[in-house]
Amino acid sequence: MYKQIAARAPDSTDAFVRARRALAGGVDSPVRAGAAVGAPTPFIDQAHGARVLAADGREYIDYVCGYGPVLLGHADPRVSERVSHAVANGAIFGATHHEEVRLAERLLALFPSIERLRFVTTGTEACMSAVRLARSLTRREKIIRFEGCYHGHSDEMIFSAGASTMTGPTVASGISGGVIHDVLVLPYNDIFAVDRTLRGRRNEVAAIIVEPICGNMGLCLPAPKFLEGLRDLCRSFGVILIFDEVITGLRVGSGGAQALYGIRPDITCLGKALGGGLPIAAFGGRGDVMAKLAPDGPVFQGGTFSGNPVCVAAAHAVLDAIEGEPDFYAKLEAKSRRLADGLRRIMAQQHLEFPVVQCASMIDFMFRRGQPHQTMAQAREADANRYARYYHAMLERGILLPPSQFELMFLTAAHDEDDIDATLRAANDSLRISAAQG
Ligand code: PMP
Repeated sequence: MYKQIAARAPDSTDAFVRARRALAGGVDSPVRAGAAVGAPTPFIDQAHGARVLAADGREYIDYVCGYGPVLLGHADPRVSERVSHAVANGAIFGATHHEEVRLAERLLALFPSIERLRFVTTGTEACMSAVRLARSLTRREKIIRFEGCYHGHSDEMIFSAGASTMTGPTVASGISGGVIHDVLVLPYNDIFAVDRTLRGRRNEVAAIIVEPICGNMGLCLPAPKFLEGLRDLCRSFGVILIFDEVITGLRVGSGGAQALYGIRPDITCLGKALGGGLPIAAFGGRGDVMAKLAPDGPVFQGGTFSGNPVCVAAAHAVLDAIEGEPDFYAKLEAKSRRLADGLRRIMAQQHLEFPVVQCASMIDFMFRRGQPHQTMAQAREADANRYARYYHAMLERGILLPPSQFELMFLTAAHDEDDIDATLRAANDSLRISAAQG
């Protein structure tokens, strides 16, 4: 598949020593250092379809998928060609352009809750800006978010959050007491805690921000009525409901988790899969909320790279691919179900009681017995050492998993039946190995 296989380079551990001399911590995002699995992730040279080629010449079936953006497959020619064309015609204008407007219109059509939107570059910016808007609109300062959800690395989002913040002692260093004071962190799926908090703090809470399906404490689905409960409480207490659909947006269906569950948030944040691997994100929502944004309103928000033609072209290519294939999501779901069912079968054969959770093309299990976890406290009970052993056994068998049990597996349209069979064979061995060493 690869035109040239790299000459065997020093393995990732040696390369990482060099990386640490130039890059802070050897990485540009902490999870990549692999602290949770005791080794940095392989250095990658190329990625095509469902596979990545590591610098040491080994090929892996990839389930990291850039932590979510890769939905069609790596280096999908439909995306690459549009992007190349856009680059050749000017990578940045610093002015509104037609394709940017057309992309906004396409997203408005897919997400009925979004009446107007603004493009940004990262999910972090989308969530940060959404909260600022909510504060301006409500003239209140506090926000509620949930332990285990991750909404980017802005000050108010980063402590007691999920995923990569669990891989180091980051917690609240560098964040002012004032910011921490304004953020109320509650257990995910606990609607009673939300109700109590809102009753106790009438007219103080501006927004509730939530991942409607949480992908940052492993995969954690909303409990029945949790999202409905949030919608009702927000309405009763005049609180803005923000759905962080940075992962779920175009991942669980073309209308996101809000279409799946039939809930209309006030503001939605999108990112990741929208750009097919290029950095583009967005936030949008109710017209009166978005009218608060400068230059129409008082809330400043801007960005040099926002809505640039290259990332916009990539997003059009993703939407064309999704919309061009009516059963795009059904096919992806069928593949994911096959992988999830296969994992369940192996678990049963090996008398393991770790529940496999699957939603659309997201799959996960944690080394924790019983029902799927519903909160971060439960996710923390999972056996991290056993995950590390499983991760390395899978890696040896050519399967690249996320280097932390709090992340999850993503499938793409490029994963095929053979990939899934190979993954299940590797999982069968690796689960045994991880148990035997326990
Ligand atoms: N929200 C969610 C749900 C995420 O998973 C992430 C990234 N993992 C973000 C926001 C932040 O996005 P970015 O890394 O693009 O800033």
